[in-house]
Amino acid sequence: MSRKTVILPKGRRARIGSPWIFANELKMDAATKAIPSGSIVNVRGEDGRAFGTGYFNARSLIAVRLLAPDCDVAIDADFFVARIGQALHLRQTLYDKPFYRLVHAEGDGLPGLVIDRFDDVLTIQIGSAGMEKQLDPILAALDAALKPRTVILRNDAPSRALEGLESYVRAAKGEGARIVVMENGCRYFADLTGGQKTGWYYDQRDNRAFMASLAKGKSVLDAYSYSGGFGLLAARAGAKEVVCLDSSAPALALAEESARANGVTIKPVKADVIEELERLIAAGEKFDIVIADPPPFVKSKKDLEPGAKAYRKLARMAAEVTGRSGFLLVASCSHNIPPERFAAECAAGMARSGRAAALIRQAGAGPDHPVHPLLPESAYLKALVYALD
Ligand code: SAH
Repeated sequence: MSRKTVILPKGRRARIGSPWIFANELKMDAATKAIPSGSIVNVRGEDGRAFGTGYFNARSLIAVRLLAPDCDVAIDADFFVARIGQALHLRQTLYDKPFYRLVHAEGDGLPGLVIDRFDDVLTIQIGSAGMEKQLDPILAALDAALKPRTVILRNDAPSRALEGLESYVRAAKGEGARIVVMENGCRYFADLTGGQKTGWYYDQRDNRAFMASLAKGKSVLDAYSYSGGFGLLAARAGAKEVVCLDSSAPALALAEESARANGVTIKPVKADVIEELERLIAAGEKFDIVIADPPPFVKSKKDLEPGAKAYRKLARMAAEVTGRSGFLLVASCSHNIPPERFAAECAAGMARSGRAAALIRQAGAGPDHPVHPLLPESAYLKALVYALD
């Protein structure tokens, strides 16, 4: 089947260099609308000028995601070998161990594709119909580049429904697995099929190291701990007490197991964070260091106001359980709340707690989560660290 061409009318191209072309930027005639979802297309101006090769989805507001700046570029295993090779080279420059996000979608020139690497085990998340169609060449490219033992497809993100994709988790190669993650010198266990997201959150790596650098001799509350990413590293850094607080029993069981493997102890508490904070506040209990890294409170644009309020409340309550001269990290992984708004809500929460706070660190995800310069909104993670009075 010959490749279809979609047309950008003259003067309609909003952002040159952007990997996204919106449906309202394209000439949406009947022929264009009839192109099957996920097809590889050429994008040209009315004058024939090449805008690139991408994949098309008439059901999505983002009608085309570009893969290459020229037309007629072959999207095959060789293409993915080259792109994944480039992504791998960057990570090998950044890290001395093979544990990282290997591919971060548009940031690595591969929209709709996320791959996490745990040595010879890979997890893949596909978020678009266009990438779903490329699964075979992607798997072939990964075999050529890395010879993985196990490849897990974590294709169960709710957002897939918007692209008309089904939800599933399966092993494309090997067996679904409990694995070890080496990060910041710490040994963690993760469950790649039963766990949340891809089983491990690499995005907080640098923020975990920063909080651990403050932890020696201190008491630490790791709220929304998952399997202990922050808490364990703090314990290894010499914290005198670490409480890991989460509503998930399996996540806390992994945290305990990881603690044993590192020769440290943590106290797991299975509870709702807000209820537990209420209890701690009522009891007057404080921690020298508090980490609050919740699930996304703003899941879509329409949740912005209630979600923003929830961040303010969390910041207030977390500040109230932070001891004198303590440190507090509040994070948001909602890309639907802009960084300024998140910071404003945290500031308001802190003010309501009656504590004086100084912002000492404003960070995002680590460098294995590169951001396309024209898609600043894909920098979803915001982590603010305050020194309290
Ligand atoms: N800080 C973690 C990642 C947190 S992910 C790390 O460094 O890896 C968010 C966590 O919040 C999940 O583990 C989830 O189980 C937990 N969670 C979600 N809602 C919760 C609630 N109401 N109370 C307690 N934990 C909750």
